[in-house]
Amino acid sequence: MTGRKKHLLKVIILGESGVGKTSIMNQYVNKKFSKDYKATIGADFLTKEVLVDDKVVTLQLWDTAGQERFQSLGVAFYRGADCCVLVYDVNNSKSFETLDSWRDEFLIQASPSNPETFPFILIGNKVDVEEKKRMVSKSRAQAYCQDKGEIPYFETSAKEAVNVQEAFQSVARLALENSDAEDAAGDFADPIHLDMESQKATCSC
Ligand code: GDP
Ligand code: MG
Repeated sequence: MTGRKKHLLKVIILGESGVGKTSIMNQYVNKKFSKDYKATIGADFLTKEVLVDDKVVTLQLWDTAGQERFQSLGVAFYRGADCCVLVYDVNNSKSFETLDSWRDEFLIQASPSNPETFPFILIGNKVDVEEKKRMVSKSRAQAYCQDKGEIPYFETSAKEAVNVQEAFQSVARLALENSDAEDAAGDFADPIHLDMESQKATCSC
């Protein structure tokens, strides 16, 4: 491949309504937390440039606009994702127990070329809330991640800006690795290109 490659990576954020997805994004992109922040960005996604090693990567972060309550996000939301961030609230066990359904839905809708190696990340949010309200332990979440192919786990507070930058740095790295791996696979087997080459070779005109 010739020329400088642009790294535009699509990241989608999934999880139950109310776990803090929009707040995490707002904290990451705008460094703000607002108790009544609403998803009124007027677009399907936010972008943020980040440096991974020596590469500038543009993350395109897709948040839901509340439709996750009906689990009907539409295929455009999922299509072409390079990384999927699953979010639950550590003080709400139901939001943890439904993670699998979000993961399954993602795999069905996005149908990544290699579901086994597609990068997911798990975020347990709202760790600033008092300890006695916590319902999902760190070890339980870590066991889940282990079971799903050693996916990275971060505990965050969008409210107090804890670990949010770190989580997305990991997202950027994994998304970039996945996208590079897909490109490499594409270079090996490009049926359209191969077909045209063979036609050229046999054309009698
Ligand atoms: P979404 O439905 O997943 O997008 O969740 P929101 O970002 O709208 O957040 C739902 C509620 O949880 C809002 O009232 C937020 O202010 C609150 N919230 C989000 N993140 C945190 C956090 O880290 N700590 C605390 N204490 N509250 C949070
Ligand atoms: Mg939201």
